[in-house]
Amino acid sequence: MSEFNITPGTLYIVATPIGNLGDISSRALAVLEQVDIIACEDTRHTQKLLSASAIKNKTLSLHDHNERQRQDYIAQLLREGKSIALVSDAGTPLISDPGFHLVRHCRSLDLPVSPIPGACAAIAALSVAGLPTDRFSFEGFLPSKSGARQSILLALANEPRTMVFYDAPRRAIDTIKDVVSTLGGNRYVVIARELTKTFETIHSDRAENLLAWLEQDPNQLKGEMVLIIEGHKVDANAISNDVIKTLKLLLGEMKPKTACAITAEIHGVKKNALYDIALSLKA
Ligand code: SAM
Repeated sequence: MSEFNITPGTLYIVATPIGNLGDISSRALAVLEQVDIIACEDTRHTQKLLSASAIKNKTLSLHDHNERQRQDYIAQLLREGKSIALVSDAGTPLISDPGFHLVRHCRSLDLPVSPIPGACAAIAALSVAGLPTDRFSFEGFLPSKSGARQSILLALANEPRTMVFYDAPRRAIDTIKDVVSTLGGNRYVVIARELTKTFETIHSDRAENLLAWLEQDPNQLKGEMVLIIEGHKVDANAISNDVIKTLKLLLGEMKPKTACAITAEIHGVKKNALYDIALSLKA
């Protein structure tokens, strides 16, 4: 166990494993052992982690339905100098998990809140997806109903950043069908399933190929998964209506070659891509 000593009156936000118990950090274990109380999304679930680590400590439930009622009580304990850990069932609390209201409440009261970082399924999936990670957008859970899911995907159709979603593998076929119908079958998608567990699978392909792959292997519809979708790529050769408008105006005043050169300069498009359009406009 680490030498780490906790600070009284602090709320620790402690990440726990997303499958493989070996992923708990020594600082997390030290905090869970030393705090006065561990607030858990599900006390029975966390008890298994504590038993596996031979930690005996008091637990208190803190989930979506009682978080707001518990926040005053927890703030009072912190003011009295008690230290508290918050854990969720898996991964980093607050990331599609309870804890936001409590952290906001404590921070508004200037009570110290300190992270004990560790596993997070979204970040683990992103780290192996092979899609750009310099900028990305975490979109949380996709809705379970197809109509709502399609609306969300459509609203993100032009999002240029890599997009990260949580979804249930049992819905994966329906979800990928919706990806194909809203973003197109050519969009690159990565499924990261059962990360850190025995049947860990990371599979990437164009959406339409991924759909065929899922349909022929029912094992891929089990467990937990993160879905990563490549961002919208701007087609450098796509000619917008504004470009056509400029070209048309200039064609009325000058030779096609000059009109294309000036239009290309104004709109930052390739000159060659404009010649055929100019000739057909002239005709
Ligand atoms: N707080 C957690 C975190 O930091 O990743 C996420 C909790 S959220 C309620 C649970 C979702 O995370 C699952 O439905 C799944 O989408 C994803 N997830 C959790 N563990 C996973 C794993 N081992 N492999 C793939 N996805 C996982």
